[in-house]
Amino acid sequence: MAASPKLPAFDPADPLGVDDLLEPEDLAIRDTVRTWAADRVLPHIADWYERGELPGIRELARELGSIGALGMSLQGHGCAGATAVQYGLACLELEAADSGIRSLVSVQGSLAMYAIHRFGSEEQKQTWLPRMAAGEVIGCFGLTEPDHGSDPANMRTHAKRDAGGDWILNGRKMWITNGSVAGVAVVWAQTEDGIRGFVVPTDSSGFSAPEIKHKWSLRASVTSELVLDDVRLPADAVLPQGAGLRGPLSCLTHARYGIVWGSMGAARSSFEAAVEYAKSREQFGRPIGGFQLTQAKLADMAVELHKGILLAHHLGRRMDAGRLRPEQVSFGKLNNVREAIDICRTARTILGANGISLEYPVMRHATNLESVLTYEGTVEMHQLVLGKALTGLDAFR
Ligand SMILES: Cc1cc2nc3c(=O)[nH]c(=O)nc-3n(C[C@H](O)[C@H](O)[C@H](O)COP(=O)(O)OP(=O)(O)OC[C@H]3O[C@@H](n4cnc5c(N)ncnc54)[C@H](O)[C@@H]3O)c2cc1C
Repeated sequence: MAASPKLPAFDPADPLGVDDLLEPEDLAIRDTVRTWAADRVLPHIADWYERGELPGIRELARELGSIGALGMSLQGHGCAGATAVQYGLACLELEAADSGIRSLVSVQGSLAMYAIHRFGSEEQKQTWLPRMAAGEVIGCFGLTEPDHGSDPANMRTHAKRDAGGDWILNGRKMWITNGSVAGVAVVWAQTEDGIRGFVVPTDSSGFSAPEIKHKWSLRASVTSELVLDDVRLPADAVLPQGAGLRGPLSCLTHARYGIVWGSMGAARSSFEAAVEYAKSREQFGRPIGGFQLTQAKLADMAVELHKGILLAHHLGRRMDAGRLRPEQVSFGKLNNVREAIDICRTARTILGANGISLEYPVMRHATNLESVLTYEGTVEMHQLVLGKALTGLDAFR
């Protein structure tokens, strides 16, 4: 009788053995990003969060550029040309530190750089992408307006051509990540030919980006209003490709894909904090992790965490194969952010009163995920996307 094969040991950090799906280069990239976040973010994040600031953001951006994290899965023009799975692993590690750091990277790479890379002219790409990949220039992406969030088709910001062929941009954008620190803004506006994207240097006359303060979520992230008062841009400031709402929506698909992974990073961090706490905190004479009710919570959290990571891998492989549909990204974002916030809230209960302290990461992650639940398409928008795909009926309006 043949000897039964020796089973690998159960790994609490990877109970489903998902790491078996990774190549050595994937693991190396994950380690690089994890180490960077451990050195540069984790020692300071509670303080930054409490102050509601991301000090040294320009230096952080340059460091993120130096490890290849900006525009990571884009090809050429100084970008790292990583796979979608590798980009996802980076998002997970960054968001395990803080959603604000992952947001900085997502907006830079998946929104601003992606828009220029996919829809820009060769000259626009050469002007902006190498410096953005290096973190020398920070980008932002202006789609949302004060009165139009889920419904960007009705945006009011508009661009008109004057007699000389220049564009004149007017309007307001709201809740724009990186806005006040950006050197370049990709701004979406109504034109005679429908919605178009514009590459706006932020030192253009008439452009300003006041920072939005008093947020109770994503506190270690710069969020701004964009004010466009008669901003004059040359004729070639428009992104030549990507007319209509499909342009910004395809950028959002790319960024949402990163969130499918990133949200699991916030969940992992909270889960790990809960396990450690449950093993050391004693009540009624023994560790609270020894109580069945606590173990039920931990087991359910682990199941959702690792199902979510598996789902992210699956979507990453589809993206690498050029087979990822936007509806599948909606599926992933809807599930993983919803489960991540649930994991963080459950972790908070395991930590009891300590759960609300900034000494532990769980409340910070939970409040961050309130934003992640809303931006890049709310829960309801992704339900409607899936509902339409399932029934063929459009319930958006
Ligand atoms: C921290 C942060 C950073 C952000 N960064 C950026 C950025 O960099 N760039 C950018 O362009 N935007 C950004 N946003 C904006 C974000 O994308 C929008 O907040 C989001 O799209 C939702 O828009 P809204 O807040 O106007 O909500 P609304 O669209 O007003 O929605 C309010 C509620 O109504 C629901 N609702 C709306 N329509 C329907 C419907 N048809 N059926 C059922 N329910 C519906 C929504 O799901 C939601 O629950 C950011 C937001 C935050 C909080």
